[in-house]
Amino acid sequence: MNVPLILPEFLDRATALYGDKQAVVCEGRSFTYKELNGRVNQLSHGLRELGVEKGDRVAYLAPNTVEMLEGFYGIFQLGAVMVPLNIRLIPDDYLFILNHSESKVLFVDQDLYHLIVPIKHKLATVEKIIVQYKDEETGEIDYDQWLSNYTVTAFDRADLHEDDVCSLLYTSGTTGNPKGVMLTHRNNYLHALSTMHHLRVSDRDVYLHVLPMFHVNGWGSPFYYTANGATHICLKRATPESIFKAMQDNKVTVLHMAPTVLNSLLLYFEKNKPILDQDVRVVIAGSAPPPAFVTRVEKELGWEFIQVYGMTESTPLSLFSTIRSQFAHLSRVEKSKIKAKAGYPMIGCDVRIVNDLGEEVVHDGKEIGEVVVRSHGVMKGYWKNPEATMETIRNGWLHTGDMGTIDEDGHIDIVDRKKDIIISGGENISSIEVEGALYEHPSVLEAAVIAVPHEKWGETPHAYVVLRDNQQVSEDDIIAFSREKLAHFKAVTGVTFVKELPKTASGKIQKVHLRHEYWSSSGKSDRFV
Ligand code: ATP
Ligand code: MG
Repeated sequence: MNVPLILPEFLDRATALYGDKQAVVCEGRSFTYKELNGRVNQLSHGLRELGVEKGDRVAYLAPNTVEMLEGFYGIFQLGAVMVPLNIRLIPDDYLFILNHSESKVLFVDQDLYHLIVPIKHKLATVEKIIVQYKDEETGEIDYDQWLSNYTVTAFDRADLHEDDVCSLLYTSGTTGNPKGVMLTHRNNYLHALSTMHHLRVSDRDVYLHVLPMFHVNGWGSPFYYTANGATHICLKRATPESIFKAMQDNKVTVLHMAPTVLNSLLLYFEKNKPILDQDVRVVIAGSAPPPAFVTRVEKELGWEFIQVYGMTESTPLSLFSTIRSQFAHLSRVEKSKIKAKAGYPMIGCDVRIVNDLGEEVVHDGKEIGEVVVRSHGVMKGYWKNPEATMETIRNGWLHTGDMGTIDEDGHIDIVDRKKDIIISGGENISSIEVEGALYEHPSVLEAAVIAVPHEKWGETPHAYVVLRDNQQVSEDDIIAFSREKLAHFKAVTGVTFVKELPKTASGKIQKVHLRHEYWSSSGKSDRFV
């Protein structure tokens, strides 16, 4: 009989092999793997006493903390389902997710408790709210006091099956309402094995949680770093200063972050010119980084740069690329001109590019089609939404809604989201490519390009630009620069300068808001509304 692939095994391994090693450091507190395991057992005992049973949903509203990390394992031992909540939502969003997921217990970080107060009386299924750590005013259960009532001794685990759902993760909501994605123990277990192989995770690693554990971008890190006895460093608030300090204080070796956050870290280094200890071995980022990032990270800092591609519905990662292996043969000048491809399929992932008829496109790096994925990571489905599940998973293939190309060596490039592609005079223009060109402008800090209506061409690219401090650049300069860098039909035809761009909690730019704003002010309705 097959051994079930279940997540508690990862912490069991770390406790047995690395029991006295530092497991987690968070704002002045630290615990060894044995201590962490004891706290996890206390949590599971406590949850059982609250009446949580196999299959029940338990929600967490917390930044990266020890409590969040132990929450995963404490919940899994009962066979219950972790529902991590994005900390940047508004109270009504929490009301929607908590009621939609029918969560029974809610853990809240004290600093976020005020977000729950206005909706508390409308929560239909939440029976207990536990605050980490209690403010005298709240009157809720205090986490540490509550935890101390229970024993650290082993917990009598529920009968776990690998196809049991263990997490209900809501999508980023970059393009609309978040959807609840059901992932199983098997999904997460095999994703962790594949990721730890590709990132070469070991017990020598010190991992800084810059990406939130509650979000798919930081997803899996509680599993694959734990399984290998690495040390977790938790940052409650990630700013360039706090990231730099945590790196230096803890001799961090691995960082994952959104490109926008990496951009601000590079800017911080540029301004402050700190002396960097060279413990960092690799930095990992998702979502199409422009070439400037790649060359700067590798050349100026000496860190390896890895790009990953994935989505919540695929647990998430499916494509992986090390920039070094792609460009080893090129000169520095050639490298700086090339956009890094999103990558090659990860172990256990079959990723293809198909046309509207579902046929594979030519492997020439040019023909564009939809990215479809078949892998161990494909979700069980959307929670309470079988129609959307059927639409997204067809014949076992997950339809990502992203468009890409594949070259003769099987390297896949993500061109754009279907909804973000600009269709100008019958040509498809990748907004990502146009943004990549704008990022090369020395005064541009951030750029987002959207389709806007045009009398003659139907649509043309329009840029929203955030300039670096004290920089003065005109719209015409930016337009001229994009015409220099790109084929003319791809150049931007207008620029709006803004102080900041709308972003999701993990730092993704929400172009949907920019599009809505622009299209409604032009009196036309966005083709995607
Ligand atoms: P929602 O589905 O709620 O609109 P979302 O799609 O942003 O939000 P996620 O699952 O967090 O939610 O993000 C997955 C998406 O992020 C992918 O479908 C893709 O569009 C984008 N993405 C991730 N990695 C990359 C990458 N390396 N290059 C380009 N795009 C990427
Ligand atoms: Mg999506």
